[in-house]
Amino acid sequence: MIAPHGGELVDRTAQRPEGVESLELIPLTSRELSDLELLACGALSPLEGFMGREDYESVLETMRLSSGLPWALPVGLAVDEAPKGDQLAMADPSGRHVAVLDVEEVYGYDKEREAQQAFGTTDPAHPGVARLYEQKPLYVAGRVAVFELPEPTFPELSRTPAETRAEFAERGWKRVVGFQTRNPIHRAHEYLTKVALETVDGLLIHPLIGDTKSDDVPAVTRVECYRVLLDGYYPSDRVLLSAFPAAMRYAGPREAIWHAICRKNYGCSHFIVGRDHAGVGDYYGTYDAQLIFDKFEPHELDIEPMFFEHSFWCRACGSMASAKTCPHDQEQHVFLSGTKVRELLGAGELPPQEFSRPEVAEVLIDAYRE
Ligand SMILES: [Zn+2]
Repeated sequence: MIAPHGGELVDRTAQRPEGVESLELIPLTSRELSDLELLACGALSPLEGFMGREDYESVLETMRLSSGLPWALPVGLAVDEAPKGDQLAMADPSGRHVAVLDVEEVYGYDKEREAQQAFGTTDPAHPGVARLYEQKPLYVAGRVAVFELPEPTFPELSRTPAETRAEFAERGWKRVVGFQTRNPIHRAHEYLTKVALETVDGLLIHPLIGDTKSDDVPAVTRVECYRVLLDGYYPSDRVLLSAFPAAMRYAGPREAIWHAICRKNYGCSHFIVGRDHAGVGDYYGTYDAQLIFDKFEPHELDIEPMFFEHSFWCRACGSMASAKTCPHDQEQHVFLSGTKVRELLGAGELPPQEFSRPEVAEVLIDAYRE
C-alpha cells in the first residue's frame, strides 16, 4: 500500500493531561477545529501541529514545507495576542477543552499576501478569503495533543487514515482511487468514479463533511444521496463510503493538491481531479486544478492524479461520454444547469434519468420539501 506523505502516519491523539483547566484557553473557529481533527488522526501527515513561520512562508512561496516536501495550503491557528505560557489549551465552539498546544512560535502574517498566494485572489467576496480576513492577527505554532475529538456527525462513516488503510488491506486492495465530493453525486460523477474504478482495486468515496458554503447541499442530505446511490448502483465489495472531516477552503488548484495529499494519507494510490476542483465562482481556470500537478515530479506526490473532463449522457452514443470520447453535437448531450436542476427538484419533479438516478433525486426532492 502507498506510504503516508513523509513516510509515517502521524497520531496526535493523547490522554487528557492534568491541569489543562488552568491553561490559557483559545477558542477555535470551525475551520481550525476541522484542521485539528485532521492533525489528530494523521490526515495531514507529516504535520504534527499548526504551522510555524518557516513552513508557512515556504508553503506560500513554493508549495513545499521547509523540508522540501510538497504541501499546498497553510494550516494556521490564529490568535489575538501571544500566549503567556509555553502551553495553551484549545476549546471547541461549545467551550469544551479539546486539545493542548506546545507553543513553539508566534508570528504575524499578511492576510492579503496569504489570500493571493493560497487562493489566487484578494477579493473578499471569495468565501475562503472572507474567512481568512476575519481571522485573528497572529499565528501560534506548535505540536498539538488532542484528547477530545468532535462527536462524528456520521459515526458509521467515521474512519481515520489508519482505519481506512486497515479496511483496504483487509479487502486486499492495493490500488485505491479516492473521490472527493461536496455535492450529491449525479450520473456525471458516477461515471468518473466508475471509469476510475475500472483500472484499480477499490474506490473510496470520501465526501467532505466539514464546513461548506451555506448554499451547498447540507452534508446530512448528501450522505443520504450517497447511500441510496451506492445501494443501487455500486458493488459493495469494491467501494467504501467514508467521511472526510475537513472544511472547504475553496482554494481551487492548491486545494486539489492538498486534497490529494490527505487522501494519500488515507491510503489512496490514485485521486480523481475533475474540472474546477475545489473551485468557486470564476476565480480559477477550468483546468488549473489539473495543471498544478505538473509543478511536482510524479514521485514527489506519489499519489497519482486521474484527470477527467466534464461528462454527460449522449443520446447518439447511447452512453455516458465526455468531449474526449464523444464526437457528437452538443444537441445530443443531456445537459442541465445547476439552476435548472434546483428548479426541477424544488418543484418536486425528477430530472431526466440520464442526468440523475431517480433514488438520488427523490432524496433531494424530500430535502427541498423540508
Ligand atoms: Zn456522442
